[in-house]
Amino acid sequence: TKYNKKDVHVLFKQILPLFKTQAAYKNIQLVTEFDSEELLINCNGNQLKQVFINFIKNAMEAMSSGGVIKIECKKEHNELCIRFIDEGSGISEENLKRLGEPFFTTKENGTGLGLMVSFKIIQEHGGTIQIKSQLGRGSTFEIKLPFG
Ligand code: ADP
Ligand code: MG
Repeated sequence: TKYNKKDVHVLFKQILPLFKTQAAYKNIQLVTEFDSEELLINCNGNQLKQVFINFIKNAMEAMSSGGVIKIECKKEHNELCIRFIDEGSGISEENLKRLGEPFFTTKENGTGLGLMVSFKIIQEHGGTIQIKSQLGRGSTFEIKLPFG
């Protein structure tokens, strides 16, 4: 695939409006905390947007009683660090181990493909994903991507 330089701010600006209606309906506040400088990343923009959409969608689906989803985007130690922090159901230890497994879902109408695809895309971009979760409290999905 061909990669080119994209500003991550722009990628988010293109997808965040898609969630406006659903977020309001579910009493969810989407809060962004972005570095003010340009965050240029060598990437396939459509693929990265797909990953962001998957993570935000999962976060919203995990928050049955509303709350805040915070998206952080900053330069840390010369990497781009993007965090999706939700106040949702959290993930059990047992399920945590299975995330990214094809077709693993806990949802009645889930496909269990979103994370698998997301992990693959981030890996192809030379990045990593870390997940932290506390059952009943929420989850953080952290993406790290190299600049350049
Ligand atoms: P799907 O959303 O179709 O179930 P995914 O691959 O996107 O498939 O996610 C797999 C599973 O991981 C979900 O069914 C859910 O159990 C868990 N999961 C993913 N993101 C979150 C999250 N933010 N909070 C709680 N559970 C999550
Ligand atoms: Mg999903």
